[in-house]
Amino acid sequence: MDADTIFAVASGAGHAAIAVMRLSGPDSRAMLAALCGRVPAPRRVSLRRLRDVDQAMVVWLPGPGSYTGEDSAEFYLHGGRSVLNGVADALVALGARPAEPGEFTRRAFLNGRMDLTEAEAVHDLIAAETEAQRRQALRQLDGALGTLYRGWAERLRLLLAQQEALIDFPDEDLPPEVEGQVQAELAALRQEMAAHLDDGRRGERLREGLVFAVTGAPNVGKSSLVNALAERDVAIVSATPGTTRDALETRVVLGGVPVTLVDTAGLRDTADEIEAEGVRRARARAEAADLVIRVVDAPEESGNDADWMLVANKRDLGGAVPVGAIGVSALTGEGLDALRGRLAQVARSLTESSGPPPLTQARHRVALQEAAARLAGATTADLPELRAEDLRLALRALGRITGSVGVEDILDTLFARFCIGK
Ligand code: GDP
Repeated sequence: MDADTIFAVASGAGHAAIAVMRLSGPDSRAMLAALCGRVPAPRRVSLRRLRDVDQAMVVWLPGPGSYTGEDSAEFYLHGGRSVLNGVADALVALGARPAEPGEFTRRAFLNGRMDLTEAEAVHDLIAAETEAQRRQALRQLDGALGTLYRGWAERLRLLLAQQEALIDFPDEDLPPEVEGQVQAELAALRQEMAAHLDDGRRGERLREGLVFAVTGAPNVGKSSLVNALAERDVAIVSATPGTTRDALETRVVLGGVPVTLVDTAGLRDTADEIEAEGVRRARARAEAADLVIRVVDAPEESGNDADWMLVANKRDLGGAVPVGAIGVSALTGEGLDALRGRLAQVARSLTESSGPPPLTQARHRVALQEAAARLAGATTADLPELRAEDLRLALRALGRITGSVGVEDILDTLFARFCIGK
């Protein structure tokens, strides 16, 4: 347990009716008593006078059943700056110190209140912008991912024990089917991990949001279309070709998924250096995008693909819609609802997952790839000792995801992303 008692405002910055202050650490009880006289009954909201600073609701949360696992308290203060500063000053005078970003959750992890995937879910839940993201984060906070990874680790431990038995006891002492069982379980684990890894990055895409690049020749109406989809003026619309000089980005929500629309500069060859740079960036962005929305204003192309969608703009001017294209008019709004619907469909299909919880973070992917590679090694290892070593390393890689082994080096980076008071 940490020796320091820490505090932080857990609610948002700025003027508010009520601000929540959190206190956690071994001296919480003594500090609470010093601040408000009588310590309230555990986990009961009580109104207390906090010296001459505030009159506030106070909750005493004794460890180990608190968020951090330590003795803690929460104050629901009047949200003005003077009150917050007054309580902070009083706590500092009593020996507490302001918390670092993510320090409460870090303590919760270190005290075994949650595993690393759950701690990461706290961050994701607070950062969630849409319902789909929120559902994914909540599922992870409930322990769905941790349970999946711990389940695999448990099976690996069993495999390792069997493998070690094969090494320690001569063949004649063991039932002959053990070797076959080890091989079969190894294959099953590899197959499950491969399926989890090969999920089209659904969970990661939902967590990070998608990128749709809007491309097409100059003046076909890309900027107008982005503005219409975003329902605000983001891109500069101009009748002069080549006015969008850089990739402009707009966040929209489509099908419950945050999508960044990239309005690429007119993709044409040009002598203008700045415009050429814009074109270069647009090409790079479009290449990395989850979907390319190709805009045309004449029936020159046709077809749709998994990675791109053809949109024929300027329908108000007439002309045929190319085969497979969606006809719209950014000017009149014709066809935009249908386009939004199609885009939402794509966004959902790229991120929706049924069945087991999807992989949500690059950090988990790296560790799982390592585990999968070790299991592949174990499958082909010539010597039983080498196979056991591969199984041990696979187990270690899995343990890094939930934080059951060797994660000291990543904790600083992981919790630094959190804001203060979490
Ligand atoms: P971009 O260069 O592809 O980004 O094209 P802009 O969005 O800047 O539009 C180029 C020109 O086409 C502007 O004059 C727009 O007003 C016009 N425009 C865009 N969409 C439509 C449309 O649906 N109908 C008509 N008639 N004009 C449009």
